[in-house]
Amino acid sequence: MDSVEKPIAYTLRRKRFSRVLRFAIHQDGRLVVTAPVLIGKRMIEKMIHEKREWILEKLTVARKNAKPVAPKRTRKEIADDKDRALELIQSRIEHFNLVYRLSWKRIAIRNQKTRWGSCSGKGNLNFNYKVALLPPHLADYIIVHELCHLAQMNHSKKFWDLVAQTIPDWRDRRKEIREHEIRLR
Ligand SMILES: [Zn+2]
Repeated sequence: MDSVEKPIAYTLRRKRFSRVLRFAIHQDGRLVVTAPVLIGKRMIEKMIHEKREWILEKLTVARKNAKPVAPKRTRKEIADDKDRALELIQSRIEHFNLVYRLSWKRIAIRNQKTRWGSCSGKGNLNFNYKVALLPPHLADYIIVHELCHLAQMNHSKKFWDLVAQTIPDWRDRRKEIREHEIRLR
């Protein structure tokens, strides 16, 4: 045993019904130990010591691949963002609708993890509050896209022709927005 061995930090999860000790490397580069309630800390640390080589190797790989974690926003910050988003989206929709002259029932701002916006068959428009954090030309693309779904609930040529009336370079913007998709998570 190396006498100056640095202890490995870990997160302990207790599982009443588990029988075995399990090591897992979280994708943010953290060691997570799942242990039955009956196994004491000394035993856990002894096991970590025995598996040290394996753990250190995995941790190095995980940390190399770990994505920078964005600071978590507080509830208040998200609420403010939602208010701001609604204001922005409403004014942009009205602006573009001078061309389209469509009508909708309700605009809702949500905190979704997988999409920027959606349009329901009932004529409700939903937008992710993060749309307001996008560069304006991309936010406009999302807004026009959902607005045009009020007239065409599909992605047909007719739909894209409609989008092109106000966003002629919609293809480029659609491509560009994919680079921002990581923000959704
Ligand atoms: Zn669509």
